[in-house]
Amino acid sequence: MLKITDLHASVAGKHILKGLSLDVRPGEVHAIMGPNGAGKSTLGNILAGREGYEITAGEVRYEDDDLLALDPEERAAAGVFLAFQYPVEIPGVNNTYFLRSALNAQRKARGEPELDSMQFLKMVREKLAVLHLDDKLLNRGVNEGFSGGEKKRNEIFQMAVLEPKLAILDETDSGLDIDALKNVAEGVNALRSPDRAFLVITHYQRLLDYIRPDHVHVLADGRIVESGGPELALELEAHGYAWVKDRIAPEA
Ligand code: ADP
Ligand code: MG
Ligand code: MG
Repeated sequence: MLKITDLHASVAGKHILKGLSLDVRPGEVHAIMGPNGAGKSTLGNILAGREGYEITAGEVRYEDDDLLALDPEERAAAGVFLAFQYPVEIPGVNNTYFLRSALNAQRKARGEPELDSMQFLKMVREKLAVLHLDDKLLNRGVNEGFSGGEKKRNEIFQMAVLEPKLAILDETDSGLDIDALKNVAEGVNALRSPDRAFLVITHYQRLLDYIRPDHVHVLADGRIVESGGPELALELEAHGYAWVKDRIAPEA
């Protein structure tokens, strides 16, 4: 589904990604862990098509496309979702209206019929039920006055409505208390499916107690320096990132 080969990228003239390769198949959950400043958010932002990044080498294939050649809207329509894509508060614009516009823009780009408000509401109620979310989320302004936990939950809700094929979560766990963390993880788990893949970017292991990844990768200094199964996350928890830094030092 996603094949990243030897990706190099710079931000503001600074070389951040230094030969990153990653292969993600449908249905898989990949956790990307790594120290602060490793390039984790850079990777997520580049996949979503955010501005400000210069790709200097390498390739990203997504399904049959050269992902890097698509603009952000085309990527979204093709099923790529980055949580934190819509983190802003939009006072006065209710969540339902906002989400229906986003979904219909994607459907239109795919040549699918748009959903009218009745169809949309029916679909949204089903999603709320699956995620055990309250329908009062619908009529509030987008993220308006939301707590940190509510914003993250709302992102999971956005993800459920948009039904991406490749969902990228960038530190969706940061700043969450344990109950909010479990809520977010349950939402992600409810959305796991054989044709949907997740890239879960996290600095901490604790989210992975609740979202069990198929593969864990350590991103350090712009490259994947170690890959393994869930046990790798536990090793990192035990030894810290200094352990990884020691391991990459001889090559760096
Ligand atoms: P992570 O998410 O792993 O903590 P980031 O991808 O956010 O790391 O950042 C990687 C490196 O790129 C850091 O050294 C950071 O300071 C730098 N960086 C990120 N964005 C910018 C930017 N817009 N301008 C300059 N440097 C940046
Ligand atoms: Mg960071
Ligand atoms: Mg980051």
